[in-house]
Amino acid sequence: MLFDTHMHADYSCDAHQTIVQAIAASKAAGVGMILTEHWDRDYPTNPDEFLFDLSEYFAKNSKYRSERVLLGIEVGMQKHLSVLDNKTISEYPFDEVIASMHCMNGRDMYEPTSYDGLTKQQAVKEYLEESIACLQLYRDFDTYGHIDYISRYMPYEDQELHYLEHPKLWDQVFQILIDGNKAIEINTRRLDLPSAVESLMVLYKRFKDLGGRYVTLGSDAHYPEHVGRRMQEAVAVARQCNLQPVYFKKRERIVIKEGS
Ligand SMILES: [Zn+2]
Ligand SMILES: [Zn+2]
Repeated sequence: MLFDTHMHADYSCDAHQTIVQAIAASKAAGVGMILTEHWDRDYPTNPDEFLFDLSEYFAKNSKYRSERVLLGIEVGMQKHLSVLDNKTISEYPFDEVIASMHCMNGRDMYEPTSYDGLTKQQAVKEYLEESIACLQLYRDFDTYGHIDYISRYMPYEDQELHYLEHPKLWDQVFQILIDGNKAIEINTRRLDLPSAVESLMVLYKRFKDLGGRYVTLGSDAHYPEHVGRRMQEAVAVARQCNLQPVYFKKRERIVIKEGS
């Protein structure tokens, strides 16, 4: 069974579904699910907005846990928070930890003003340099979330990430993940865009060529109708890049067998 390894519900302030709705949606889509609520300390626009009571999260949601419903977290990395976040990660019984970039140098990548005065070349360079710095500080995670997060929001004519524009920085990102035996996420949010698939494929293939092996497939759903979205497209990308889809249970990597 495929697993949608990235979605948000009751404990993410920007989500519009309950865990019960997400479970029903994942069943209808025929996939397993990992709930990965937002955990972003010191968020620039509102420091506490993307935090929640982790003890309550497990107390209220543990009854839903099963072979096909797992409980994880999506940690938004910022350099100055790595010690605190690494401690939090170690203190709770997550199935899967996604490490993600939502901010760079204290700016919210979602906000158009975060790109003021920057060319695309400068913005992507900063994003990759920040990613490298964070990935070196955050070691306790399972998969690296949405490598194309910046493509959702950066206000440039060409919003795609091109390996050849920053090959050395991309290689560093991938090498840190490979050395740490981490997976990388194929986020399905933008896989309806042929231009996104094309440019992302180059990146995932490079990850493979450098020695990467594992991918998680995640919708990043905030609504029930997006749970399990474009999983087949993600499988096709993984297959073409010769990368193995996996999910995580009790922090252990589980290989998804073809046809299972
Ligand atoms: Zn995210
Ligand atoms: Zn997310």
